[in-house]
Amino acid sequence: MSFSLDKSDPNFTKQVAARSGQNIASCYQCGNCAAGCPAGFAYDIQVNQIMRGLQLGLKDYVLQARSLWFCLSCSTCSLRCPNNIDVAQIMETLRHMARDEHKVSVSAVDKFFKSFLTTVRFLGRSYEIGTMVLFMLRSGHLTTDVDLAPQALLKQKLSILPHKTPPNVKATARIFERFLKGKHKQVNN
Ligand code: SF4
Ligand code: SF4
Repeated sequence: MSFSLDKSDPNFTKQVAARSGQNIASCYQCGNCAAGCPAGFAYDIQVNQIMRGLQLGLKDYVLQARSLWFCLSCSTCSLRCPNNIDVAQIMETLRHMARDEHKVSVSAVDKFFKSFLTTVRFLGRSYEIGTMVLFMLRSGHLTTDVDLAPQALLKQKLSILPHKTPPNVKATARIFERFLKGKHKQVNN
């Protein structure tokens, strides 16, 4: 993936630092984060290169990286960083910013995230078949993995009905409301 330093935006670096709470300038490119990343084989830009792109303010280079959507949020990069940078938190922040800027580069993954979160928001916990159906409708991939469903049902890995609703389902809904209100404020400020 190529980039041009002409497109450098120092404000972008400041925004990511503020939203993630991380000191981006302290990265000295040791590469420890990328060396331990289990998803690196699928990335178009390795995670240390994302950090470098951030320091240089390369907004498009960073926000359009496919790597953001293949990240597993495992936090290995954060644990390995000698400068205590929470790199996984930065990756999460970048996913939010890519959504806000309509720069999501792997839309199927984002649609899956949203489908999963919809079930958690309304049922208080994940519901696999609900997630699959919502994903199929959102993505238009109406036959994705349908052939696996009978085996998964037989082995009781999928339940037709949602799992028993936990008693704190309203509390979970309130977490989503708080998040959405916070986001609304950010957009209007
Ligand atoms: S959180 Fe993401 S970037 Fe960090 S090591 Fe895990 S998969 Fe790689
Ligand atoms: S491990 Fe930390 S200091 Fe090293 S390249 Fe990654 S983010 Fe930068």
